[in-house]
Amino acid sequence: MTSVTSFSVGIVGAGLCGLMAAEQLATSGHRVLVVDRGGSPGGRLATRRSGSAVFDHGAQFFTVRSERFRADVDAWLEAGVVAEWCQGFEEIDGYPRYRAEGGMANLARHLADRATRAGATIVTKVTTTAVIPGADGWTLNHDHWVREPDDVDAILLTAPVPESLQLLRAGGVKLSDASLDDLRYHRCLALMVTTGASPTLPATGAMQQPDDPTFSFVADNAVKGISPVTALTFHTSHALSADLWDLSDEDIRRRLAPAAAEAVGLTADDFDRVQLKKWKYTGPVTPWPDRYAIATEHPRPAVLGGDAFGGPKIEGAVLSGLAAAEALTGLLA
Ligand SMILES: Cc1cc2nc3c(=O)[nH]c(=O)nc-3n(C[C@H](O)[C@H](O)[C@H](O)COP(=O)(O)OP(=O)(O)OC[C@H]3O[C@@H](n4cnc5c(N)ncnc54)[C@H](O)[C@@H]3O)c2cc1C
Repeated sequence: MTSVTSFSVGIVGAGLCGLMAAEQLATSGHRVLVVDRGGSPGGRLATRRSGSAVFDHGAQFFTVRSERFRADVDAWLEAGVVAEWCQGFEEIDGYPRYRAEGGMANLARHLADRATRAGATIVTKVTTTAVIPGADGWTLNHDHWVREPDDVDAILLTAPVPESLQLLRAGGVKLSDASLDDLRYHRCLALMVTTGASPTLPATGAMQQPDDPTFSFVADNAVKGISPVTALTFHTSHALSADLWDLSDEDIRRRLAPAAAEAVGLTADDFDRVQLKKWKYTGPVTPWPDRYAIATEHPRPAVLGGDAFGGPKIEGAVLSGLAAAEALTGLLA
């Protein structure tokens, strides 16, 4: 059982949003606790190893749109944590697509190290079950036998919004804006395939197909530069993900394998191993207009952040974390 320390900000979620916020808040002098139920930080920045194969099976790449995010990405490039993958998967359009060296989870590791060096405490394998308002702060309840409750002054909830709202509800909190309940997310089925055969893909090793009814993205992680052997990731379209969601994992794998093989010029018999990851929350259907939302200020602040706020994807999650940290610093002053 972990001993209880006093923290000024408790962050639920060590994905991009939570990690960026943690570093900024700790650098501003706050005592920060970050709790994540995963075995390691990262959330949807996820890399799986299977034998010698390495798969990015959550986020695949990122682009840069804002000056603020450009500054972070330049620092990550300088640190050798990310690299340019290509400037368009099938045709060059001049806009860099970035990948993380060794897989997306390594970017999360880097950000967790930075937050820790700034003074934040990050604990993994701990699921928060409720956030409960008290007279002068919040109590974070966790899986009881894993960690004692933590008392904090303010909270930042960065899980997908339906999960964050569930934590607030479990603590008896009434939301300041009920329309947060309307936030919906797309789902995605990620197929991870090893094969001794040679797949047919563009020279970049990937196809981005937003309008394809079956696979929205296909990549060979070997050509991407993160796997020593051929390791294919297939992401199903939003519509197909919803259609197949309730089938068993085995049925989904059986249904998708022939189409996956055909997409890369092979047959299902060429596949050695087919694994599946179901992503319930891929990205928001319609993002919230602001970079964060204040769930309540009473008795002390509870703020919601993540890629549903202000803009989706990796850049959106980063900018939400930074904006939420700045807002919390102001609210706690
Ligand atoms: C299949 C897929 C493909 C994608 N492709 C791309 C892409 O190519 N480019 C791109 O830019 N973006 C992509 N994205 C989106 C991108 O991954 C996300 O926008 C971003 O990683 C979200 O970061 P976040 O911090 O907001 O949330 P998350 O990464 O989801 O972090 C939330 C964290 O909260 C933790 N958590 C939740 N509930 C609890 C609890 N009760 N207690 C403790 N911890 C909890 C979770 O474990 C998780 O680590 C993709 C996502 C998926 C799933």
